[in-house]
Amino acid sequence: MDFLKSINEANLSGVLFKNLNLKKNIIHFLDQHGQSTISEIGKELKLSTPKIISTINELIEEKILNENGKIESTGGRRANLFGLASGSVFFMGVEVSKYHISIGLMDLNKNMLHAPKNIPFKLKNSEESLENLISIINEYIGSSGLIKSKILKIGINLTGRINQITGHNYNYFQFTHLSVSEIIEKATGIKTHIDNDSRAMAFAEYCSGVVEQEKNILFINLDYGIGLGIIINGEIYYGKSGFSGEFGHNPIYDNEMICQCGKKGCLETEASGFAVVRSVQKKLKAGIGSILQRDIKKIDEITLEEIVNACNQDDTLAIECVAAVGEKLGTTNEYIRLPIKSSLNKFSSSLVNNDTQLKTSKLGLSAGVMGACLLVRRTIFSV
Ligand SMILES: [Zn+2]
Repeated sequence: MDFLKSINEANLSGVLFKNLNLKKNIIHFLDQHGQSTISEIGKELKLSTPKIISTINELIEEKILNENGKIESTGGRRANLFGLASGSVFFMGVEVSKYHISIGLMDLNKNMLHAPKNIPFKLKNSEESLENLISIINEYIGSSGLIKSKILKIGINLTGRINQITGHNYNYFQFTHLSVSEIIEKATGIKTHIDNDSRAMAFAEYCSGVVEQEKNILFINLDYGIGLGIIINGEIYYGKSGFSGEFGHNPIYDNEMICQCGKKGCLETEASGFAVVRSVQKKLKAGIGSILQRDIKKIDEITLEEIVNACNQDDTLAIECVAAVGEKLGTTNEYIRLPIKSSLNKFSSSLVNNDTQLKTSKLGLSAGVMGACLLVRRTIFSV
């Protein structure tokens, strides 16, 4: 059975199962080591040369591997080099934000292509919003010019409490017994995986080497809410029930502010994009000058993006509001990184923070789509 068919087959047994795992192991090896010779692959996987050759030939026929010329050598017969093929199969990543969707395709060699950002969209817990999401995905597939069987899997990042195994999102799109991933899979005809947005971003930043040599990372996603992605020993930490990273709803403040989640005093009430928007609105209404007044017709409809743009144009009001939240937490750029750094020094033990690095995102707005692609790409290696 061919690799692409067998990978989505749940009940493989015997020889077929063994063969699939062998192919996954070879792909995984080439992913980790780059192009290699048959003897290098055989040594690592402890397999006979004829077995490796026949499996590699199958993978070449299936367009998963390429023969990439011969190894440089000073004498004797030069061995052939094999590597992962670009352009044969793809993984699709979809990042769903409050006001837009970003989308993209990744090939086996982690190259991104066709990756439009900020397609207008409104994330609401309604059937209409879910239908819009599906039609954006289907339009994108149509415009990519690829036949569907070339897209192995779709990875979708959503905010909220997500069980990535069952595909349920407990905050959005749970209208019937079907999970979000089942609904999208049915509508697109392509296997679909959903995951929490912060976890996917954390994984992409980790893979891109944001903190070199480091295998333990906490990634803070400061958007309208606050998400946390946890990487331990190079692997995403999902937690016992799959809801790791529910960080924004820790009751930190003794305030009377009602959070998105319905409780009082959550971290998100004072240190989040929502908190920034609220404080900017309050100051604008009090008549404090800002370039935001010039551009914004309705104060109540101001977006986080407009505030970040104002910061980048050195708008004092916007910078003050972002920095104030930075003191309580932190991310994105120096306006917010420096207050966090000083809070870390002030409030945590030097024993702990001495060997802790505070880095800002390397991938920026691309982290979500790349993370979604990388998470589904990874599933074809897992034995
Ligand atoms: Zn809350």
